[in-house]
Amino acid sequence: MISLEKLTRKNIWNLAPYSCARNEFSGTTARVFLDANENPYGSPLNRYPDPLQLELKKKIEQVKGIPVDYTFLGNGSDEAIDLMYRCFCEPKEDNVVAIEPTYGMYKVCADINDVEYRPVLLDENYQIAADKLLAACDAHTKVIWVCSPNNPTGNDINRDEIVKLLNAFEGIVVVDEAYSDFSRLRPLRYELPRYPNLVVLNTLSKAWASAAIRLGMAFASPEIIDIFNKVKYPYNVNYLTQQQAIKVLSDPFEVDRWVQMILQERSRMLEAFSQLSICEKVYPTDANFFLAKVSDAQGIYDYLVKQGVIVRNRTRVQLCHNCLRITIGTRNENNELIGTLRQYK
Ligand code: PMP
Repeated sequence: MISLEKLTRKNIWNLAPYSCARNEFSGTTARVFLDANENPYGSPLNRYPDPLQLELKKKIEQVKGIPVDYTFLGNGSDEAIDLMYRCFCEPKEDNVVAIEPTYGMYKVCADINDVEYRPVLLDENYQIAADKLLAACDAHTKVIWVCSPNNPTGNDINRDEIVKLLNAFEGIVVVDEAYSDFSRLRPLRYELPRYPNLVVLNTLSKAWASAAIRLGMAFASPEIIDIFNKVKYPYNVNYLTQQQAIKVLSDPFEVDRWVQMILQERSRMLEAFSQLSICEKVYPTDANFFLAKVSDAQGIYDYLVKQGVIVRNRTRVQLCHNCLRITIGTRNENNELIGTLRQYK
């Protein structure tokens, strides 16, 4: 990896960050808070939340095994995706390389930040070749985006190829593991000490059943985390979210039960869907959704919408012609989908 100073945008490296009132007294026990122009009435929501979310990060350390100083928390993992550009990619000059197809926000954030986005097509099994991604890089490539299990294809990306990228690429490799709770692979976040150029994204929006509270995580070396913390909005994770996240993370066994139910339903759905007359292929999945090739994705999608059943039409995505992406729901919801599709003519 080249030095972090060389990877970081100059204005960001030299940035004197905003100093929150609540950052300044750390280490002392405070009793009287007259520093932040808050209303003294209306506790607890009258107070600004902890800007670095220490209590929540300690909880995450207990549950996910990643130390506090390796953890950044944001308003969804989308915040961390955007920060990768704002911290490391000089607009109109730098570029990023990404697998294609994948989660759409990597490209949207590149466009917003005026950074060139270089998609590299997956193979027919939706897998990567590290050499192909590396060949798309040049001296201005700051980031390689990998998503595993990948959205919308659902499959784990070959771990050996990701390791090749981590060893060979001089910039940062981001591996988005939003769906890793549904996969059998050991999460890559445990390998962080071995790879100073690795950023792993996690979220509470999927297995943790908390999409509404908006809590995303980026795990990386403390040096990278410090740069994110300099650039983020001072109070980027609100108090209600911090409290609710602590509560959800206090019952990981409930999440294990949900994941087991979803995985059982996933097997049942893959089988039932593949029996439908409209189904041409169900792709293997390691996530809580699957991709299926059907006879006429647009027609079937429109029909389902009319029946009040919403899936994701991916037919316009590269390598996904005539494909629908289907989330695993409750047993009843899944039965509704299959029953409705059996009536399609
Ligand atoms: N990464 C992937 C791969 C996703 O599919 C999604 C949501 N669809 C996200 C990140 C966004 O997660 P969050 O809700 O934490 O912003």
